[in-house]
Amino acid sequence: MEGDLNAPDGIGLEDRAEDGTVAVRPSRAEAEAAVRTLIGWAGDDPDREGLLDTPGRVVRSYEEFFAGYESDPTELLARTFEETDGYDELVVLREIRFESHCEHHMVPIIGCAHIGYMPDRRVIGISKLARVVDAFAKRLQIQEKLTAQIANAINEVLKPKGVAVVVEASHQCMTTRGVHKSGVGMVTSRMLGSLRDDPSTRREFLSIIGSPTTYNG
Ligand SMILES: [Zn+2]
Repeated sequence: MEGDLNAPDGIGLEDRAEDGTVAVRPSRAEAEAAVRTLIGWAGDDPDREGLLDTPGRVVRSYEEFFAGYESDPTELLARTFEETDGYDELVVLREIRFESHCEHHMVPIIGCAHIGYMPDRRVIGISKLARVVDAFAKRLQIQEKLTAQIANAINEVLKPKGVAVVVEASHQCMTTRGVHKSGVGMVTSRMLGSLRDDPSTRREFLSIIGSPTTYNG
């Protein structure tokens, strides 16, 4: 899809949803024009020298911030490694740092995810888990949905005996605007299968990830 991002002005990229409706994706030039509008609305002059290249930079930044829309987490997880030599203990990946953006204010959510799962014959490369976090984080998000999506994707594709995801993050919409509360960390979790139902497995996971720390994004 990358090539289509450079579609000529006014010709957007068409995305057909499952229900058959077609959403036209705005062109890069339209996105840059929208940034110029916001600069003017904020009270500055988009034609001022220091701001001339800003719309282009913002749009390129958006390509990074929202790269998750271009990746398919199910596909990322599809290649699992089945050779486990009978390993059936908890696998935990701690402190996977991510940057996301809140869907209410489009400002950063900075934090980290901890993932644990109980394998059922199949395991997965740790870099894949980190990429699944990014695939969901690099979208417009709320922390609760991000947490559930990571856990559900691992559960559906890897089919482990259990999965747990704990996400700790600080929301810049809380720290830089509105109530201006700094140092506020939010913790969300989703536990499935044996990590939800077996208290000793759950305790083991929670002790491995340690006490949640606060991220001051
Ligand atoms: Zn927000």
